Amino acid sequence: MYLPIQDDPTPPQTAYVSRGGEPLKLAPLAGTVQCDIAIVGGGIGGCSAALHAAEGGARVVVLEANQIGWGASSRNAGHLPPATKHDPDEVIARYGAVAGQRLIDAAEQAPVVVGELVARHGIDCEYSVPGIIMAAHTDAAMRNTEKRVDYWSKRGRPVELLDRKKAGEMIGSDYYLGAWIDRRGGRINPLAYVRGLARAAIKAGATLHENTRVAKLERDGAKWKLTTPNGVVLADKVFLCTNAYTDDLWPGLKQTIVPIRVYQFGSRPLRDNVRKTILPGGQPMTDSRRLLSGIRVHSDGRLQFGGHGPAFGPLSKPSAGAAISRLQRLFPQLGDIETDFWWSGFMAMNGDNSWHIHELAPGLLAMLGCNGRGVALATIYGRELARHANGAPTADFVLPKSPPKRIFLYPVAKPLVTALIKYYALRDAIEVRHLERSRPATAA
Ligand SMILES: Cc1cc2nc3c(=O)[nH]c(=O)nc-3n(C[C@H](O)[C@H](O)[C@H](O)COP(=O)(O)OP(=O)(O)OC[C@H]3O[C@@H](n4cnc5c(N)ncnc54)[C@H](O)[C@@H]3O)c2cc1C
Repeated sequence: MYLPIQDDPTPPQTAYVSRGGEPLKLAPLAGTVQCDIAIVGGGIGGCSAALHAAEGGARVVVLEANQIGWGASSRNAGHLPPATKHDPDEVIARYGAVAGQRLIDAAEQAPVVVGELVARHGIDCEYSVPGIIMAAHTDAAMRNTEKRVDYWSKRGRPVELLDRKKAGEMIGSDYYLGAWIDRRGGRINPLAYVRGLARAAIKAGATLHENTRVAKLERDGAKWKLTTPNGVVLADKVFLCTNAYTDDLWPGLKQTIVPIRVYQFGSRPLRDNVRKTILPGGQPMTDSRRLLSGIRVHSDGRLQFGGHGPAFGPLSKPSAGAAISRLQRLFPQLGDIETDFWWSGFMAMNGDNSWHIHELAPGLLAMLGCNGRGVALATIYGRELARHANGAPTADFVLPKSPPKRIFLYPVAKPLVTALIKYYALRDAIEVRHLERSRPATAA
């Protein structure tokens, strides 16, 4: 079965574009070139790998089917959480005490690493670390929130439990039962960031090509041969950084993930007096519902928020109505809002909600499975691939290597995931109704 992930090859119009910097306009590959490392995919993962490998002295070629950042890297919500999707005890249970702790530490440092790259390479991408807010919509979620705050505050981390009143002040709404703020997290303009990483990689000596889809990957003597419409790359090592947009380049890789289409909206700039009341500290936020949707306010006063539409199939306009009506219940001060932008991108989901690094064959590595968390994490995993290319053993990866595992129910993923999303939406709706009834009378 083929889950259709092909999209319009032109870059999406998002709330990031006006401050996203200039497109790179790189020439497609022509002719035959030799290099140490060929990287397939010019998103944050591929560009981070290219930058770090080139800085280590490797001859690097990046091949991107569309434009730099065309995939999830320019379409995401731009939140920088300092963690993987799993709580620390789950990470330790999965990878063991030593490797698990290494991953927890690396994920915690990931927003810092992004900040260092931004500073070192002068990337103008609205990087900011005012913290990140996660709100609780049920009593169970609130208990979980308390547990998380307890875990991190015992370790001296800058986290804070927010009761309903305090959460109301920080969010600009007393909708939720409470929340926590993790001051290690932040936000970014991901389009400007990925373009900046690409420019830094070029400065470090890497060669990047746009509009260059790799159609075939095969062994050619001691080298890997990558065939594109107008050229060939012969490389010692290959990194597949194609994530949700993984195609049939390597047999079976696509079947290790399910690409799910996720939607974002950008409002018209809010009136200044309203804008000042919503997330006044500049933090991005999410909540504890199963179907996540982030909210952030841009420097031009636009509100960016997630919404839902068909998870599969070709691009079709989602209805903004449900997303807007939820926002209006959350922030009654908004009044009428209109959207200037909507866009979508694919997230690579899998059974264990985790990124994976696979060594598919000697010298051939793949990183994929973001599950919606990959602005900071793709940066550090890309750096890991580069470290390996520059001599570090793969056993040292901060994310331990794993064998590729085909999703057992892949042939029926589409109906199954569609049904699961409907079920989650129903559970969320029931809980949200309960939450809205518990709201203080003054806010109604
Ligand atoms: C709507 C949305 C919201 C998100 N929000 C957040 C968030 O707030 N915070 C967060 O941390 N993460 C978020 N994510 C996840 C994050 O965007 C991704 O994890 C990250 O961008 C992955 O980067 P990447 O480089 O691995 O993949 P991508 O950026 O998807 O790049 C893959 C590239 O591979 C190219 N490609 C594929 N096949 C080929 C081929 N055969 N030849 C050449 N090129 C090829 C594609 O054209 C594509 O550009 C979100 C994702 C989505 C979709």
